[in-house]
Amino acid sequence: MNNRAVATPTRTREILKKYGFSFKKSLGQNFLVDVNILKNIIEHAGIDEKAGAIEIGPGIGALTEQLAIHAKDVVAFEIDQRLLPILDDTLQDYDNVSIINEDILKADVQNVMEEKFEPGQPVHVVANLPYYITTPILMKLLMDRLPISSLTVMIQKEVADRMAAVPNTKSYGSLSIAVQYYTEAKVVMNVPKTVFQPQPNVDSAVLHLNMRSEPPVDVNNEDFFFDLVKASFGQRRKTLMNNLARHFKGIYDKEELNKRLDEIGIDSRRRGESLSMEEFALLANRLDTTESPDA
Ligand code: SAM
Repeated sequence: MNNRAVATPTRTREILKKYGFSFKKSLGQNFLVDVNILKNIIEHAGIDEKAGAIEIGPGIGALTEQLAIHAKDVVAFEIDQRLLPILDDTLQDYDNVSIINEDILKADVQNVMEEKFEPGQPVHVVANLPYYITTPILMKLLMDRLPISSLTVMIQKEVADRMAAVPNTKSYGSLSIAVQYYTEAKVVMNVPKTVFQPQPNVDSAVLHLNMRSEPPVDVNNEDFFFDLVKASFGQRRKTLMNNLARHFKGIYDKEELNKRLDEIGIDSRRRGESLSMEEFALLANRLDTTESPDA
């Protein structure tokens, strides 16, 4: 039994030295070396002794160890095979952890959840994510509509701000809508570079995403809706009309677009960044080309 947490600068250095481990920058390997930050993350995640936890990228087990202490069961996906013997060592005192040596983007998470957790057990995703694939990982977990209660993730601050942004701010964009369609998003902590080894080049933040039981808006066709949102932010300095005219070229002319925008009370001279999700939903349902254009 080792009484010292993995997440300290000294113990981390010792472990890395013992195994001759060298960081792979291409895998976004920045390990946390501050136990208090980890405990804070776990508290924000709402982890308790009945909860299941899914971690992405356990590294040498800094967060995994804290999850093993506070949650009922932990499942962690790690792509780097070199970390498996290290995790065997650092997590030897815990029998409630399963490490899966897979790329999270290719893993069948639903299937793993059915295998590892009990039906109805609250499951939370908690992770210090590899920054090079933050958005694909989160979008995969959200769009697969997994039965998870929340996601609490350390990510690049700029991306966290975009995901949690509200209309009329610099950070607000199609990513804000994509994330907030599935979750209630909140930046809960800013984190200094000094708590990582090695230190990343960018600032970090912890983002908490509370899963919605259903989307906050009624959308006839989700693909159409998300395409429309992306198009509306296409050229940020242009008006909504300019972006829509380009997106619907050959389908709706400006006159028809104006008429439809008018019908739902949206001024075509506005910019995409001023529209709320409710307004985007109204707009998508009114312009939906998968139904009769005259509807
Ligand atoms: N959780 C550890 C910590 O906080 O100290 C390590 C976090 S580090 C930022 C990201 C981890 O994700 C690394 O261990 C890396 O090998 C792993 N990783 C990178 N890409 C991955 C992928 N596609 N699937 C699963 N794990 C991945």
